[in-house]
Amino acid sequence: MHDHDHDDEHHRDNHYSDMQAGVKALETLLTEKGLIDPAAIDAIVETYETKVGPRNGAHVVAKAWSDADFAEWLKRDATAAISSLGYTGRQGEHMRAVFNTSETHNLIVCTLCSCYPWSVLGLPPVWYKAPAYRSRAVIDPRGVLAEFGLTLPEDKKIRVWDSTAELRYLVIPERPTGTEGMDEVALAGLVSRDAMIGTAVAGSSKVSAAGSPEALP
Ligand code: FE
Repeated sequence: MHDHDHDDEHHRDNHYSDMQAGVKALETLLTEKGLIDPAAIDAIVETYETKVGPRNGAHVVAKAWSDADFAEWLKRDATAAISSLGYTGRQGEHMRAVFNTSETHNLIVCTLCSCYPWSVLGLPPVWYKAPAYRSRAVIDPRGVLAEFGLTLPEDKKIRVWDSTAELRYLVIPERPTGTEGMDEVALAGLVSRDAMIGTAVAGSSKVSAAGSPEALP
């Protein structure tokens, strides 16, 4: 039913490199004219990638951990549950929350291009858009996770979810042990962007790190 949107979305995503080239040219020009400091631009992008955007998703996760009714709603109708917190808009219209359990770990990818739940995670990291991640996450998820520094028990199943323009996924990590007394705000502080993509787990030491491994892309 959203075929047209879908095609538009992929069309645009596939031309992202053209847009990137244009942005780069503009950045170079402005830098040469002394109008901008590239380091400042990098800092702003970094902030939106790792701090501002993913804090929305972390709020969703923390609420799911603290409120069983909300968690149930999130499982049943993630789009509505997430909207109720005010996180809506482009690239977040149709959401599905996938819950990590002791048996199963979930990992998100967009094999076609770079579909990503902007409303809860902000800007996608560079590696998420890289061909290496997009192909290898499906073929060898365990190997990819190891490169992110995440080694899961051999008997833990890994489910890989392929995002599209029509349906985007949010991983709800397992709540770390020893966090029983923590409130939602403190819990949200344990949830990194990567934990909501599935390339990390909650409460790891990598929480606020950019999280892009040397080996990828
Ligand atoms: Fe995509």
